[in-house]
Amino acid sequence: MTDADEGVSDGPAGAVVTADASVSSAELGAVREALVSWYERDHRSFPWRETDDPYAILVSEVMSQQTQIDRVVSAWESFLDRWPTVDDLAAAERSDVVAFWSTHALGYNNRATYLHEAATQIVDAYDGVFPKTPDELQSLMGVGPYTANAVASFAFNNGNAVVDTNVKRVLYRAFDVTDGAYEPTAGALMPDDDSRTWNNAIMELGGVACGKKPRCDEAGCPWREWCQAYQTGDFTAPDVPTQPSFEGSRRQFRGRIVRLLGDHDEMELDALGHRIRVDYTPDGEYGREWLRDLLSDLAEDGLVQIETRDDGVTARLR
Ligand code: SF4
Repeated sequence: MTDADEGVSDGPAGAVVTADASVSSAELGAVREALVSWYERDHRSFPWRETDDPYAILVSEVMSQQTQIDRVVSAWESFLDRWPTVDDLAAAERSDVVAFWSTHALGYNNRATYLHEAATQIVDAYDGVFPKTPDELQSLMGVGPYTANAVASFAFNNGNAVVDTNVKRVLYRAFDVTDGAYEPTAGALMPDDDSRTWNNAIMELGGVACGKKPRCDEAGCPWREWCQAYQTGDFTAPDVPTQPSFEGSRRQFRGRIVRLLGDHDEMELDALGHRIRVDYTPDGEYGREWLRDLLSDLAEDGLVQIETRDDGVTARLR
């Protein structure tokens, strides 16, 4: 497939730019750095994120396919207590593995069968040593492209960019990426040799910030300054066909203003603007004029009082 087919093109030094140039080569480093720093500052803690054991990671991935993540934690711990290594699992009775799956309500039992079969393959065909590439991992029973890539990334730091529903939602909203361009754009965004951290980070972004109902400011999304959706207020996505209520709308910004003014006696116009949106620029599209307009609405509704003084404009709750 050509670059043009994919809606991306190679930029200098291997940087890739989406079709509408919403990620320029120059910005690529900053986009990467922002996401990795955000992830490393804070993220949800799952026990499989603390290990690079491919067996433990494979078990977590297979369990997560059908089960709420919070419930997976205890099942995963019990499973590894019972069968701590791939050799232990391969030596187990298949009926015991299936019974475990049922007892812990982990979804389709054939996943337990496949997992047991994959363990047997690793012991018999690979001498108990896990394959390390996504392609080889896909030869294991029940291991599809997504799972193979996840294990290669999280166990061996050797994967490609993960593209799942969450990642598609993020790329669509942030950089206007659409069908045909997800894989190449996700791959171009990922720094070389860093699939472990990067894939965890972008999946975390889709999980805690850019969910169906996005939490851009609440979660401190590191991509706000580049994000198309954040700038336009259109938060639809492939799996969110209609605009999620509230977030991004004019109503949302009115709510932010009222909340902020509730915490302050009064605020100067630009200080308020910078606090309610990361892309506020006094003379820009989302600047003083835009903010004055919102404040006028709030004033007409009797919520806010605007005062124009020699040293500028301030707002306070009425
Ligand atoms: S700013 Fe909001 S919509 Fe954009 S990527 Fe971040 S969480 Fe998603």
